[in-house]
Amino acid sequence: MNTSLVMTWTLVGVLIANLLTKLWLNNRQIEHVVRHRSEVPKAFAETISLEAHQKAANYTLAKAKIGLIDLAIDAVTLLGWTLLGGLDFLNQITIDWLGHGLLQQIVLVVSFSLIGGLIGLPLSLYQTFSIEQRFGFNHTTPKLWVSDLIKGLALGLVLGLPILWIVLWLMKSGGQIWWFYAWTAMVIYQLFVMWIAPNVIMPLFNKFTPLEDENLRARVIRLMDRAGFTAKGFFVMDGSRRSAHSNAFFTGFGSAKRVVFFDTLLKQLNGDEMEAVLAHELGHFKHQHILKMMVTSFVLSLFGLALLGWLSQQIWFFTGLGVLPNLNSDNSAIALLLFMLVLPLFTFFVSPLSSYRSRKFEFQADAYAAEQSNSKALASALLKLYQDNASTLTPDPWYVSFYYSHPPASQRLARLPA
Ligand SMILES: [Zn+2]
Repeated sequence: MNTSLVMTWTLVGVLIANLLTKLWLNNRQIEHVVRHRSEVPKAFAETISLEAHQKAANYTLAKAKIGLIDLAIDAVTLLGWTLLGGLDFLNQITIDWLGHGLLQQIVLVVSFSLIGGLIGLPLSLYQTFSIEQRFGFNHTTPKLWVSDLIKGLALGLVLGLPILWIVLWLMKSGGQIWWFYAWTAMVIYQLFVMWIAPNVIMPLFNKFTPLEDENLRARVIRLMDRAGFTAKGFFVMDGSRRSAHSNAFFTGFGSAKRVVFFDTLLKQLNGDEMEAVLAHELGHFKHQHILKMMVTSFVLSLFGLALLGWLSQQIWFFTGLGVLPNLNSDNSAIALLLFMLVLPLFTFFVSPLSSYRSRKFEFQADAYAAEQSNSKALASALLKLYQDNASTLTPDPWYVSFYYSHPPASQRLARLPA
């Protein structure tokens, strides 16, 4: 059997393995939630009503069912692009139109992304205006949805085109170790985007107003002093424009850190609970979780690009995935797209590792918050947040191990000092 055929069958095999695993996980989650739907778990019997528990169950089931449709669309799209010849066709028509060269490469990647975006659009519409609507979370108007879409698209082009151009140019002209130069450029670019995000990108989508609640401000400043932090400002974000889901977070680097509260959060939590939630966020900083995640992602992307550097030299990588490479010109864009299409099929099987690490970080931040503020207030804040977001109290453990970046409520509360 030739190497190209091995590549084809590897793709088919790993795709089937993905589908079976994801179906199995989804079914487990559905069964687990249905089985526990009629009764609030004992630990929550006094704090959560049966009605809220069942709402969370129904919301989880609705999302799990959408997950199945998503799974089917993803699999068909992947096969369409690769073995059924979609990418090969798109490559040919852009070459016929523009000839060979960097411009054709860029147009190929951009049109691929636009088509991918179009395919995902109906489901995203359904999610926002059917599921989120039905459970009372959606505040997005069709007008806002369209304006978000247009802004997102424009932003994607403005931010994406320069780095795409650099990477494709390096792939062609950077020699044997282009992948190292491309990695360096991508790291610098990512840091740059993170740096401009709070002042340039986020205000495009939301309004940020200074926190007016003097009382809460004073508490937050005291908490940060105690923990040895300084922040540049405290802001309230109009998250309620889009959804009833709530959150609080930090943005910015070093001493330019800002604290941002969703307006929805301010409505749901009292002063003690707000302080505890913020202390949890500070815990992430104290333990350098953000830095650790960033370093991991940079190291992994270096390996990924090195692998791409090798694969892009192998003809079987193209032919095995349904594309005839251009024999006397550049195949960088095709290699990049095939790699991005196929890689997630393989990395899915190690996702429990990163999910586990993320959940461990949450426990650490909780422990820090319990130390720095009030453990009881943190417990009641977490309970309110899980309830307001209709997160199920009874997820399937295997489903959790693959998909949950935050531990289920029961585990978090059980770990807090009484
Ligand atoms: Zn956290």
